[in-house]
Amino acid sequence: MAQEAAIYARISSDPDDTRLGVERQLADCRALAVRKGWVVVREYVDNDISASGAKRRPQYRQMLEDIKTGDVDAVIVWADDRLHRQPKELEEFFEIIDAAGIKDLATVSGDMDLSTDDGKLKARILGAVAANESAKLTRRIRRKHEELAQTGKLSGGGHRPYGFEDDRLTIRLDEAQTIKELASRVLSGDSLRSMCRDLDERRLSTITGAPWTPHVLRRMLMSARISGQREHLGEIVGPAEWPGIITPADTARLRSVLGDPRRRTNRSPRRYLLAGMLRCQLCGATLVARPKMDGRRAYVCAKGPGFAGCGGISTLAEDLESLIIEAVLFRLDTPTLASRLTRRTKETTDASATAAALAADQTRLDELAVLFADGEIRKAEWLKARSRIDERITANKKKLSRMTYTSALDGFVGNSEGLRKMWSDLPLARQQAVVAAVIDHVVAGPALKGRNRFDPKRFTPVWRR
Ligand SMILES: [Zn+2]
Repeated sequence: MAQEAAIYARISSDPDDTRLGVERQLADCRALAVRKGWVVVREYVDNDISASGAKRRPQYRQMLEDIKTGDVDAVIVWADDRLHRQPKELEEFFEIIDAAGIKDLATVSGDMDLSTDDGKLKARILGAVAANESAKLTRRIRRKHEELAQTGKLSGGGHRPYGFEDDRLTIRLDEAQTIKELASRVLSGDSLRSMCRDLDERRLSTITGAPWTPHVLRRMLMSARISGQREHLGEIVGPAEWPGIITPADTARLRSVLGDPRRRTNRSPRRYLLAGMLRCQLCGATLVARPKMDGRRAYVCAKGPGFAGCGGISTLAEDLESLIIEAVLFRLDTPTLASRLTRRTKETTDASATAAALAADQTRLDELAVLFADGEIRKAEWLKARSRIDERITANKKKLSRMTYTSALDGFVGNSEGLRKMWSDLPLARQQAVVAAVIDHVVAGPALKGRNRFDPKRFTPVWRR
């Protein structure tokens, strides 16, 4: 649930800039991440002692690459002008974060919500100021911004939360009414998108004056604040000093409904090539298919009701699946596999169908656990259904382990090129059968700390013998 954030800090020699050591910058950014409930996944530091924007900033470029690969949800910088020295750079940055779907850019000096035009404008202004390299102008504009923020004209700089007055303690009645209405509509099945349209038609905006977006609306409705609770790293930690607008029970239900990956309907049907094939290196549990909050497919070692895992492993599906497909294709051309297969007798059983049934049952188990966690089925119902599926899985696994899998690989051994050409046209069940014919399972290790690009070294295929 927590946003995965990157921190960017820069050592600069601008004489009039507030010169803080990079450690201090990082400490401020880390503290901000904690306040926002974001998890810092990577820190980037450039030693940019030249004031000229033309100077190369390798860590900044690296951060952009990592944003492109999509493992960062948010960016924190110490000050607005740390990030960009040139308007050109800023536009490039906007393009990259828009493409990656990032809406959150936080600064220690004040938030910029890049989903709003105001936020973009402010970033552009500050970017232009930085490019001008006039420290005097920077300070003057900054003061102007502070003035504007204080008089409530600009969105930047820690605005009040929706539903509350500026003191952040007093409930604002009209907005509270809207929150109650929206909460009950979500709980009765209304979609964020249709509610945004409705709010727009009624000319009800966010406190910045910008129209509601599903992203912003969802964040507001999932916040612990509106039920008078405090949260830390996304978890509710207790009652707050301000009163609630809705009840804590409502917040729990909203979080369950809005955090439910099945709500994400804008994606193509789930295709999890490696369902049931990945094992957690930390605890040995089988990873389950579970999309990230943004809908990107992922496999996780899931903990909580119905899950046996430790919660220590999470990996995006796409890169991993490409890696495993490559490994399979490579393996098909090795003499070991060919000789092993020719030694075996052909079996008539359809390995492909069994593998597909197995994968489908794994998915069913995951879905059942979600239903139970959401309170949609009772524990007794869940256990009953689970034991039935478990039995079938055990039986199918035994069946599969007896098979040689040769049927799935017919015509492909020593002919990886042929398979590669037709791979994307094969039905998922067939792809799964081919993978399962070559690989028994894949061990997934934890990500290296601070590393958020796809790291093939984390994954070890265990070849079928
Ligand atoms: Zn685990």
